[in-house]
Amino acid sequence: CKIDYVAPADLLSDRIVLVTGAGDGIGRAAALAFARHGATVILLGRTITKLEKVYDEIEAAGGPQPAIFPLNFEGATHKDYHDMAETLDREFGRLDGVLHNAGLLGRITPFEQYNPELWDQVMQVNINGPIWMTQALLPLLQASPDASIVFTSSSVGRKGRAFWGAYAVSKFATEGFMEVLADEVEHLGTLRVNSLNPGATRTAMRVNAYPGEDPNTLRTSEEIMPTYLWLMGPDSRGRNGERFDAQPK
Ligand code: NDP
Repeated sequence: CKIDYVAPADLLSDRIVLVTGAGDGIGRAAALAFARHGATVILLGRTITKLEKVYDEIEAAGGPQPAIFPLNFEGATHKDYHDMAETLDREFGRLDGVLHNAGLLGRITPFEQYNPELWDQVMQVNINGPIWMTQALLPLLQASPDASIVFTSSSVGRKGRAFWGAYAVSKFATEGFMEVLADEVEHLGTLRVNSLNPGATRTAMRVNAYPGEDPNTLRTSEEIMPTYLWLMGPDSRGRNGERFDAQPK
């Protein structure tokens, strides 16, 4: 956990960073924080109006001009991911970072009652989509002299908990895939792959999962950004295949 990390203002200057689920919650805060530290941010998400708002905020703050990439992991195909890689290759020629942040909670419910369509939907958005997107983007990430892939995990992706169903399973799969890919790219020395558990954070998803909780008792998305910046920037160089937390336990 690097919650006390203070990122230099130019930490991400000249870096091209893709953030999924950039329109809301933690992804929105990360896109704004990365841009504030100099990154050209590619805002990926399914609700274009939300992405446009983040785009405008970055522009208003004088950040590098971002890009919007509308994509819904539920319907996206392999061709979509490869078309995306082609577009990014044409526009930027490389990618210095990916924050896999988009996520779907599904339902907190006993497994006996879990709806199979919803289960597949959660697995699609939280793990299968991101995996195939990563495959398509690997050449661009390998074209960078120093690239970081950050997968978003959860405490239920490290220790299973009753009723968390597909969400927990998708986060365990995220940790597993992170380790496999990290081991495969270790020899490159220019690409690192890690996972990050944001911890309880004041967002719409958290309210859905814990409706009885007072959101004001939780850290905001902005408050957990130090670890995100550290993992995305050069100060985490050499760290590969590790599990991080954005908040003290
Ligand atoms: P939010 O629900 O606030 O935001 C999730 C983002 O993912 C939204 O921008 C949403 O888009 C996007 N998204 C959802 N489904 C899709 C899809 N099919 N295609 C593309 N984008 C999609 O959640 P948080 O900010 O809280 O969560 C961010 C990440 O952190 C998730 O991976 C979550 O699992 C993880 N996490 C969060 C915790 C917390 O306490 N908040 C704790 C542990 C982990 P749209 O705005 O259009 O709905």
